Amino acid sequence: MLEKLEKLFNEFTSALEKLSKEAEILNLKSEYLGKKGAISQILAGLRDCTPEEKKQLGPAANEVKNKIQELINSKLQKLEIDAINEKLASEREDLSLTDSVMASNNHHGGIHPVTLIQTEIEDIFLSMGFDILDGPHIEDEFHNFEALNIPADHPARDMQDTFWFHDPHAETDEKKFLLRTHTSTIQVRGMTSRKPPFRFIAPGKVFRCERTDASHEMVFHQLEGMMVGKDISVANLIYFMKSLLSEIFKKEVEVRLRPGFFPFVEPGFELDIKCLICSGKGCSVCKQVGWVELLPCGMVHPNVLKAGGIDPDEFNGFAFGLGLDRLVMMRYHIDDIRHLHGADLRFSEQFKTF
Ligand SMILES: [Zn+2]
Repeated sequence: MLEKLEKLFNEFTSALEKLSKEAEILNLKSEYLGKKGAISQILAGLRDCTPEEKKQLGPAANEVKNKIQELINSKLQKLEIDAINEKLASEREDLSLTDSVMASNNHHGGIHPVTLIQTEIEDIFLSMGFDILDGPHIEDEFHNFEALNIPADHPARDMQDTFWFHDPHAETDEKKFLLRTHTSTIQVRGMTSRKPPFRFIAPGKVFRCERTDASHEMVFHQLEGMMVGKDISVANLIYFMKSLLSEIFKKEVEVRLRPGFFPFVEPGFELDIKCLICSGKGCSVCKQVGWVELLPCGMVHPNVLKAGGIDPDEFNGFAFGLGLDRLVMMRYHIDDIRHLHGADLRFSEQFKTF
C-alpha cells in the first residue's frame, strides 16, 4: 500500500507540472482529493486494514494528502500572479515623450505677467539701493491695522473688507487673525527689524472681501515701498516714483498728485496716471474718467514710525503702495482684471518669454 501511495504521489506531481489552466488543476485536485478521488479511497480503505497497517498507512496517506493540497494551492497562486503580471505588461503605457511628440506639442509655458512686472520693478529698485522684503499672508490685527495708525474704532477699517479667521484655540468668538489687506504689514516688520537709514520694497498678494468686476478682484498684488532716513522730503518721493514709472512704461507718462487720506501717511497723496488704454478718453478700466488711481503714497505718519521703534523727531520717510495688477493692465492693455486669474491658456500664452 505504501508503494501505491508513493506511485500515486509521483503520478500527481508529473501531471500537475504539465497543467497551466486553473480548471485543469481543479479537475486534477478532485481526481486525487475528491470524494471518489484516489487518496480518499485509500483513506476509506483503511477501515478494512489491521491496526498495524492503519498505524503505518494512516499518517502516510494523510501526509500525501496534505502535500498534494499544498502543491495545488501554490500552483494556483502562481497562476494568479502570472496572470496579473501578464495583464500589467500588456497594459503598460509609455509615458515618456518622444522628440517628435515634443515637437508637435510645443507647450513650454510662460511667466505670468504679474510676475514679469514684479521682477522688473524689483530690478529697478535694487539698482536704486532698495532691499526686497517678504511677509506672511496671514496677519494679526497689530501688523495689519494698529501699527499702521488704524486703531479698532478708526473709520479707515471700514474701507477694507477683511477676511477674518476664527481662532480655534480662543475661548471667545473674537477674531484676531486675517488675510492681509495690504502689503503695508511688511512695512511694520521691516521697520522693527532694522535701523534707519533704510529703504526697501515688499511685493506680494493681498486679499479683500470684494465683489469682483473689470477692475476689482478679491486677490490682487501690491508692492509696498518705504524709505526712512534724515531729511527725506516729498521731492524724494516724486523722484523715485517718476523714475520707476518711466522705466516701466519705457516713456514719459502723465501723472497727477492729488491729496489723499491714508491713516499711515501725513501728508498723503494719490498718484494717478493718465489711462494708457483709452489715452484719457474714458473706458471701463479708468471708470470713464481718463485717469487711473495707481499709487497711494505720502510721508510716513509719526505714529507709524513710533510703532516701528523709530524716533519721529530724528527720522522721517516716505512710503507708497503700488497696485501691480493695474500696472500690468495698463502696460499690456488688458481691459479686465479677471483675466489675470482666469487660468485661460489663450491669455497666458501671450506672455511667453522663452
Ligand atoms: Zn481708460
